[in-house]
Formats: sequence, structure tokens, C-alpha cells
Amino acid sequence: MKILVIAAHPDDEILGMGGTILRHRSKKDVVNVAYLASGITSRKRSIDNFDSELEKNEKKWKKQISELRKNALSASKLLKVNNTDFFDFPDNALDSIPLLKIIKVIENLIKKYKPDRIYTNHYNDLNIDHRTVYNATLTACRPLNNIVKELFCFEVLSSTEWNYPYRFNPNYFVNIKNHLDKKIQAMKFFKTEIQKFPHPRSAENIKSVAKRWGTVSGFNAAEAFEMIRKIEK
Ligand SMILES: [Zn+2]
Repeated sequence: MKILVIAAHPDDEILGMGGTILRHRSKKDVVNVAYLASGITSRKRSIDNFDSELEKNEKKWKKQISELRKNALSASKLLKVNNTDFFDFPDNALDSIPLLKIIKVIENLIKKYKPDRIYTNHYNDLNIDHRTVYNATLTACRPLNNIVKELFCFEVLSSTEWNYPYRFNPNYFVNIKNHLDKKIQAMKFFKTEIQKFPHPRSAENIKSVAKRWGTVSGFNAAEAFEMIRKIEK
């Protein structure tokens, strides 16, 4: 099976489906991950017009992006991801880009990888980039050529459960009992993203959520997904 994961930011896919990626890879499925936004917000617009400040800020921002990219590649390696694509659309401002431009990027990814199944961010997340990525993915997957037979959404801790009203309706669960430790290990590469409990992106909460979905599905640990559409040929 060929899998394409379309994530707004580096680490979304680890939080949402790190264990499931490992499971796919253990079954020899091909897993490709694409990150659409850079993951680091540029603050250059909030700085007054001092050129040196702007330049300093730009340098710092580029350094942070390259650091995050390194972390994402280390995590991808640990999860045995086959291919990783970065697009560096502006963070926290994907809605400022014409949606068609993002749709084109996703259409090209679909042409390149011919995925049977796509996983992406949830349509009701608090983060605007997550919602934009969902909308663009759904459009790129419109049933014209039927390459993509299955479309799923994953949850991202501190975004999916922080939006109200809560609309994550998982109906697909994956046993990740054997992969939970590695998922947390992968998340630890993102030193600026992993936080202390009771933050949702803490190792303790990642475990709690896996156990919670486990209780819903009869496993010691699980990841939960909302299946959006499935086409049977
Ligand atoms: Zn995100």
C-alpha cells in the first residue's frame, strides 16, 4: 500500500500518527510525508523598519527553520519514512496564500507518489494552517481520477482538542502498543515542540491519549482517525 501524509507542520504527523507510520512501515507499506508550512513563524513584519534588525531576525528565522527541518528528518529516519518533502509556505498564515497554489502542490504530490491512502490534518483544528491543509487536500482528492481511494484525518494534540465545539469523531483505530515508545522518542527530537505536563504535547499526555483511544478500541495503546471518504473500485 502507498501512503501519503500531508501535514501542515513538522511534528503534526508524529503527534497524530507516529505509531501508525511505524505500523505501515512494518507491513512494508511505502510512507511519504510532506510538510506544507515551515513550522516557524516569521516575526519580521512585527519589527520596525530597522534594516539591521530585519536582517538579524531573518537570519534567526532561517536558522530556526533549518533546525526544525533537521529535527523532522531525524524523526522521519527513526520512523523509517521513505520520502520527506518540505514546502516552506508561511507558518500560521497558510490562509494568506491562494488556496489554488496549495492545491497544485498537493496534486503534484499525488501524481508523484500515487497514494492509495492519504492522511491529513483535521478540518476542525484550532490552527488555521491545519484547516487550510485539510481544505486543499480534500479539493486535490476530488474523485476525478480515483487514485486516492482513502482519506483520513489525524488529530494533533493542542489543536484538535483545543477548538470548540469539539468535532473530532474518530471511527478508525490503530493498535500502536508496540510503537508508542518510538513515537515518543521521535517527538523528543522536536525540543521546542515537546512540553512539560499538563501541556497536551508532553510525553505523559501522548501516552495518556494513546491509552484513552486504547480503551475505546480494546488495545493497550491506539491512535484514532476520522475516516473522511473511502472509494471501493
Ligand atoms: Zn501543526
